[in-house]
Amino acid sequence: MSVKNIDSLQKLIDNGICNRCGSCVGLSDGKIIFNNKEGRYLPQIIELPDRETMDVILEACSGKAFNFPLYNTLLFGSNTPKHIYTGAFRSINIGYSIDPKIRLNAASGGIISALLIYLLRTKEIDGAVVLGMSKEKPWLTQPFIASTEDEILEAAQSKYILSSVNEILPEISAFKGRLAYVGLPGQVQSIRALQRMNHPSVKNICYIFGPFYGNTLHFSSIKSFLRSYGEYDYKKIKKLFFRHGEWPGNMRVELNNGKVLQLKKFHANYLIPFHIVKNSLICTDLTNEFTDVSGGDAWAPVYEERGKGFSMVIGRSEKGEALLKKMQQDGFLNLSPLSLEESIAMHSHGYDLKKRGSFIRMNFLKWIGKPIPDYGYQIKDFSFSRYLMEFFIDLLFLLLGTSFARWIVEQFSPTFVGRVFEKSRNIWKKSTKNIKRQNL
Ligand SMILES: Cc1cc2nc3c(=O)[nH]c(=O)nc-3n(C[C@H](O)[C@H](O)[C@H](O)COP(=O)(O)OP(=O)(O)OC[C@H]3O[C@@H](n4cnc5c(N)ncnc54)[C@H](O)[C@@H]3O)c2cc1C
Ligand code: SF4
Repeated sequence: MSVKNIDSLQKLIDNGICNRCGSCVGLSDGKIIFNNKEGRYLPQIIELPDRETMDVILEACSGKAFNFPLYNTLLFGSNTPKHIYTGAFRSINIGYSIDPKIRLNAASGGIISALLIYLLRTKEIDGAVVLGMSKEKPWLTQPFIASTEDEILEAAQSKYILSSVNEILPEISAFKGRLAYVGLPGQVQSIRALQRMNHPSVKNICYIFGPFYGNTLHFSSIKSFLRSYGEYDYKKIKKLFFRHGEWPGNMRVELNNGKVLQLKKFHANYLIPFHIVKNSLICTDLTNEFTDVSGGDAWAPVYEERGKGFSMVIGRSEKGEALLKKMQQDGFLNLSPLSLEESIAMHSHGYDLKKRGSFIRMNFLKWIGKPIPDYGYQIKDFSFSRYLMEFFIDLLFLLLGTSFARWIVEQFSPTFVGRVFEKSRNIWKKSTKNIKRQNL
């Protein structure tokens, strides 16, 4: 037994460092579990894993540490173009799946689903690790291995509540065949750490893809959304979508009494300051930098006005880039190149959150004696005014995260609150547009 290691794991869970990648649960043979997914959704240690397992868990715990420069070199070599915001990139494109069935069913351009379906059709993989919705508890997410195109489509679209893909490491390990894996940055980083250890649980994974990652929400967001419509029992949820319908889509809840609650995605974003998972505010990886290919929304009026679904696609590794090229040649993807400058401007508000805000927040935490993740790099020397702005943003998150603030917002129509939120987002986007040119 390793009491010392278990203490350090418990300490980082207690101190908000856990990003819920799920690896400790997946590696612990049932000794660490998530038992409160509708609540704080934290790992609970119910029995001490043996020392060897604890060593692996701590090494794979991306909440604790993940050395960006080291993994950049290990995965992409020193000659691949890199930018501190985007990570390593061989290509940046605006793209979408040519197949309307994939594109219109997806979160944005259907790139991630298309990659998985193409690999399945060409028999390069036998299955894909994806995140769907639970059959038993349709209000919760459920990672699983999809082995058919229908299953991949079933798991499409973003899920904005806490999820822990790596809890199914035992299934990944037992799978007979080659796998592609889809996860958020913390989950991907943990898989990369396990690959570096040559850990048997990830030996089947041959491709890693992932969505961009601004933030994620506590399950309280779903309860609060329901309450705003006068519904108080989340167990009545029959189906839950976060990006239903044409891009950018809608948050949509179907209840078993036939009622449907639906709100534009941009309006449903109002839930963010009230229910944001604080750990996402100290994650410095917006674009899923350690994937083979990652995809986000192509946030720009020129695309947003057209609907249908457009993604920003970053090809990073050699095999990820080769796959994108092959899919384009085979008429599977439409890809149009985007310059680095344009891509940064498109996500200026996201980079402001992750590459400025997160580092300032970590400084705040350090100053009050709290532990922070070790990413092996730092961006510093921000202006006093940026620190001040961050102080007020964090104060706002603290205040809006209280039960009282949540109760107040539930008294207003979600459409009204959503409109106000959308206006604020546009102002923030405008104010960060020159992020590349400004002194960091
Ligand atoms: C929590 C979260 C935050 C995001 N924040 C941003 C942002 O700030 N800016 C931005 O541009 N884009 C963001 N995205 C990405 C965006 O919403 C789309 O997922 C992305 O554009 C890919 O679209 P697609 O059509 O190619 O994906 P699809 O073809 O719809 O496939 C999505 C794939 O991602 C998997 N997936 C969905 N949700 C999760 C999850 N929570 N954890 C692990 N796997 C998941 C699904 O299983 C599916 O395989 C976020 C996504 C998530 C899940
Ligand atoms: S970050 Fe992952 S491995 Fe670390 S404690 Fe959280 S769930 Fe476990």
